[in-house]
Amino acid sequence: MNRYLAPWALLPGGWAPDVLLEIDEAGMLTRIEPASSRDGATLLAGPVIPGMPNAHSHVAQRALAGRVEGAGPAGDSFWSWREAMYAFVERLDPESFEALAADAYAEMLEAGYTSVAEFHYLHHDRSGAPYARPAEMAERILAAARSAGIGLTLLPVLYRFSDVGNAPPQTQQARFVHSLESFEATFAACVHAGGGVSNVRIGAALHSLRAVAPEDIAPFIAIVDAHDSQAPLHIHVSEQEREVAACRARYGATPIEVLARHATLGARWSLVHATHATHDERARIAASGATIVVCPTTEANLGDGIFPAAEFLAIGGRIAIGSDSNVNLDVAEELRWLEYVQRLSLRRRRVLGSGAGSLGDELYARSAASGARSLGQPVGKFQVRHRADIVVLEPLEDESPPSLDTCIFKSGAFRVREVLVAGQMVVHGGAHVHRAVLRRRAGAARLRLVACTN
Ligand SMILES: [Zn+2]
Repeated sequence: MNRYLAPWALLPGGWAPDVLLEIDEAGMLTRIEPASSRDGATLLAGPVIPGMPNAHSHVAQRALAGRVEGAGPAGDSFWSWREAMYAFVERLDPESFEALAADAYAEMLEAGYTSVAEFHYLHHDRSGAPYARPAEMAERILAAARSAGIGLTLLPVLYRFSDVGNAPPQTQQARFVHSLESFEATFAACVHAGGGVSNVRIGAALHSLRAVAPEDIAPFIAIVDAHDSQAPLHIHVSEQEREVAACRARYGATPIEVLARHATLGARWSLVHATHATHDERARIAASGATIVVCPTTEANLGDGIFPAAEFLAIGGRIAIGSDSNVNLDVAEELRWLEYVQRLSLRRRRVLGSGAGSLGDELYARSAASGARSLGQPVGKFQVRHRADIVVLEPLEDESPPSLDTCIFKSGAFRVREVLVAGQMVVHGGAHVHRAVLRRRAGAARLRLVACTN
C-alpha cells in the first residue's frame, strides 16, 4: 500500500486541495480523500491530474516525424505521405521496431500519456511472410510498453486489400496483409502473449473499409468475441473524401453506413477520425455510445479536414484524442488544436466548453474519460478501483486552485514533472527513469535502418 498527498488534484467534481491517494499492491486506487493531512503520506510536488489515454497510435511512425514534409513530384498529400511511410516501415526489423517503440512510449509518458491504444498492422517479415511466431511484432510492442511502463491496449489489425472493392494489396503492403484465418492465428497469439498481463488489454481493429470487405466485418467480430465479447474494437473511417467517394461508388453507402450495416455500434467501438461523417452519421454514432477518436495534429499535418467536434459534443458524443502518426507528442497541444480548429472553423471562441467552468479542465477530463472508454481500461479519472495513473505537473505560479486553462492555452505551461502508472514512478524530474538507455537503443536502431537500403 502506497499513500500520496497531492497539494491539488483534479477529481471528477473539479480541483480539490490536499488529496490523499491510496494505492494497493496491484496499482489500483483504493481511497481518494480531499482535505487530508499528510500523516506519513509521500507529498507530491505539484498539482496532479489523471494520466491521459492516447487512443490512437502507430508507434513506429514517431521516427518519421518531421522527415516527410517535402513535396513529391506530383505535390504532397495524404497519399504521397503514405508512400513515404510505407518505404520506412518496409525496412523495420523486430529489434529496431521494439527499440523505436520503447523510446516513443517513454516520450509519451514524459508528455503525460499514461496508456496507449496501439493500432498494429506491421505483422509479417520484410518479404511479407509470417514470422515463425505469428505475433512476433505484437510481442515487440508488448515488450516495448513493458520497458517504458506505459499501459497498453494492443489492437492487432485485420488488413486485406489495397483499396475499396477488394483491390489486391500492393507490394509495399505485404507486411500488413492477413486472411481471416491467419488473422485469427495472430489474434490468438496476441491474446496468449498479452492476455492477463498487468496494464494490458487486447482488442482488435479493422484497418478501414479500404482494407477490408464489408463481408469481413462479422467474421472478424466473431473471432474477437470468442476471446472477449467486450474487447475494444477500432477502425479508421471516413478520414479521406476519396475513401468516402469510393465506398459510395462501390457499395452505394458511406464507410460508416457500411460499418453500421455489418456491426452493432456501441461502447466498445472507436471510430478513428470520422472527419467526413455526415450529420446523421454523427447523431447515430453519438446515440450508439461509440467513441470518435480525433487526432488533431496528425489530421492537420495530413490535411484531412476538420471534424465538427462542437456539434458532436453538443449531442452527447464522446471524443478521445490520439497522437496517431506521432508527429506531435504533447497532450496540451493536441487539446489546444482540438479547440482551435473549431474556433477557426466557426469564428468564435470557447467552442468545446459546455458550462461556465474552466474550458481546459473540461476538455481534459472529458477527453481522458472518453480515452479510457476507447482503450477499455479503468483509467482516465481519479476514482476508487481505477488504476493509479497519475501525472504530477510543475506548480503554476499564482494559481490556487490550479487551472488547466493556463496549462493548455498558454504554450509551454503544461509541464510534466512526475508520472506514475499503476502507482509506479516512470517519469521523475521531467525525464523517463530509463531515458538514457531507451534513447541509446533507439539511436542504434535508426542507424541500422539508415544503413539498410534495400
Ligand atoms: Zn491511424
